[in-house]
Amino acid sequence: MTKVKPIGCKEALKHLLAYLDQEVGAVTHREVEHHLEICLTYFSRAEFEQSLKTRLRDAGRGTVRASLEKRIKTLFGRFDSKQKAGRP
Ligand SMILES: [Zn+2]
Repeated sequence: MTKVKPIGCKEALKHLLAYLDQEVGAVTHREVEHHLEICLTYFSRAEFEQSLKTRLRDAGRGTVRASLEKRIKTLFGRFDSKQKAGRP
């Protein structure tokens, strides 16, 4: 398996909507997953959520599709359980 290239928050956010829609390639998919794992589990999760909301507002011009919001919640929930599992 090739190593996943570390990407920054900005790049992850750029791909996130396509990622949620399963519209990214395998490599990008892994890069985004990898970033989310680090970012949402350990680092600036609140910051990431905030940037994501801003981005969604821009993308949706005021409205965020309910289905998309649900998928984001599911996504974050996935990392919630990971975080809990990783704690002693
Ligand atoms: Zn990040």
